[in-house]
Amino acid sequence: MKYDYIVVGGGSAGCVMAHRLSADPANQVLLVEAGMDTPPDAVPADILNSYHLSQANPNYKWSQFRAYHQPVPHNAPERPPLQHYDQGRVMGGGSSINYQAANRGTPDDYNEWESMGADGWGWDDVLPFFRKLETDQQFDGPLHGKSGPLPIRRVTRENWSGFSKATADSFALAGMPFFEDQNGGFEDGYFPMTVSNLNDQRVSAAIAYLDAATRARPNLTIRSNAVAKRIRFEGRQAIGVELDRQGAEEFYGGSEIIISAGASHSPALLMRSGVGPGLHLRDMGIDIVADLAGVGQNLQDHPGVPTMAYMTRRSRHGANPGPALQVGARYSSEIDGCGPNDMFVCAIGRAAWHSAGRRLASMSSWINKPYSRGQLRLRSADWREEPEVELNMLSDPRDLARMKLAMHRVAALFQYGPLKSAARDPFSTNFNRRAQMVGAVTPRNRFLTALASVMMDGPGPLRRAVIENVMLGRNIASVVRAGDTAIEEHVMRYVISIRHISCTCRMGREDDPMAVTGPDGRVHGIGGLRVADASVFPAVPRANTNIPTIMTAEKIADSVLSPG
Ligand SMILES: Cc1cc2nc3c(=O)[nH]c(=O)nc-3n(C[C@H](O)[C@H](O)[C@H](O)COP(=O)(O)OP(=O)(O)OC[C@H]3O[C@@H](n4cnc5c(N)ncnc54)[C@H](O)[C@@H]3O)c2cc1C
Repeated sequence: MKYDYIVVGGGSAGCVMAHRLSADPANQVLLVEAGMDTPPDAVPADILNSYHLSQANPNYKWSQFRAYHQPVPHNAPERPPLQHYDQGRVMGGGSSINYQAANRGTPDDYNEWESMGADGWGWDDVLPFFRKLETDQQFDGPLHGKSGPLPIRRVTRENWSGFSKATADSFALAGMPFFEDQNGGFEDGYFPMTVSNLNDQRVSAAIAYLDAATRARPNLTIRSNAVAKRIRFEGRQAIGVELDRQGAEEFYGGSEIIISAGASHSPALLMRSGVGPGLHLRDMGIDIVADLAGVGQNLQDHPGVPTMAYMTRRSRHGANPGPALQVGARYSSEIDGCGPNDMFVCAIGRAAWHSAGRRLASMSSWINKPYSRGQLRLRSADWREEPEVELNMLSDPRDLARMKLAMHRVAALFQYGPLKSAARDPFSTNFNRRAQMVGAVTPRNRFLTALASVMMDGPGPLRRAVIENVMLGRNIASVVRAGDTAIEEHVMRYVISIRHISCTCRMGREDDPMAVTGPDGRVHGIGGLRVADASVFPAVPRANTNIPTIMTAEKIADSVLSPG
């Protein structure tokens, strides 16, 4: 059977595409997802869990996906550490394992997209799709939707943890204004974080868009645990997808193939299939279907340095399992050329699922408008091998300067006022092997972390010894005291991705040599092939990327169904 549309990847974008394209009974739609399915009557409890428990479950992630966070010197043998990089491999993709932050970015972000050649993607064009995707549980008016598939809400102050309250009070003391609706204004200030969550449960894109009624459509077929190895072409026309289904080879023909495998895997699938930078494909021994220099380039992500701190008993999250993200703030660094709202900081009142995590808060501070650019390339033509990813974080001097300023700011927050009494011993650590090892929910990890918790609750010197020697943490107050060189060394060492990989197949005009798709997601120079996911962003917005991705899929689905 030949499908009208084959959607590759059932993540945040793929679920939207499958839902919207199959709404017309005349369209035969196939959705292919590498990971397991999460049908409405069998969504695993850790995915539904309001606190992001699913992030600890290796069954929902691409286990071999790794990235260099720091710049890689290409003319020297030393390389920075290659670190795990979580990417969802489960129905819902990132939206099934993320922190559920649900914000949009600012009008400037989308007006910039348009100025970069994404015609028809300015703020006035995208706002209807932000409204279409959501049912805002608390706010109404011209900026909000009330009937979309995805519920969005905020945890209000009376339900905040002590740490969230102390963070908010410290923001206020630092002179930041408060506003109630993160998605209803674009000024600097602090606010309750918007989350995709209803009745204290996560709502992934799979839960929202692949509900029972959608799945009952006879024209929608879902294949889970199926990896797309390659797109097959006849000349420059895509004609179908070659799959591996747990060892069995399958081929499905389609009139149009829509790649929604995420910014980490869509460019890799394109390159394996012969669409990408010609020289690189030749090096990999891959026959070239289309020489598109931009595939895998322009990689963007939000760089951040997380700070953890030991919370006093009354500041902890307590029995409330609710979303960990409660309070956030946007601010402007005022560094030349960086524009407004270019920085973000948010409080996470419970650093991990286990008892040590319940005692540790995390203050995540990141660059909301980065200038560093990375790249993603193949290691080989083999579909089983993950690509080589260079995030190249803080390589742009503006990013480095802002991350250093952010460290000053975070250190000051912990040093005075409400946060000083809510939390002690702020430190940075990276997600090293040890943290990965205790990340999974197992009886052994429960035991080990309980032991660490007892020690952390003990006298200060014992707690600091655990932080330094077991968690390999470095106290940030002492780093800031040591001066500029120490701060620079610190941020370069501890910088991590906020997991907002995007822009690796960016939209743009056909005469732009680095553009991969047009504004309707069609891959330049190829028939029957689109990309619809976070890869097509021209620039990463000043936002967590899930809602912008869902908006992008809504808009591309609309252009598939009603071509202009
Ligand atoms: C740990 C983590 C925390 C995050 N926290 C937040 C947050 O709180 N708020 C927020 O807004 N954003 C957050 N993000 C980012 C956000 O979730 C992503 O930007 C978004 O999910 C991207 O959607 P996507 O459709 O582009 O890709 P994905 O959602 O990653 O979907 C891609 C899908 O394609 C599948 N796939 C890949 N290759 C193949 C193949 N060859 N064959 C078949 N299937 C394939 C994958 O298994 C996956 O399910 C987070 C991301 C992570 C990983």
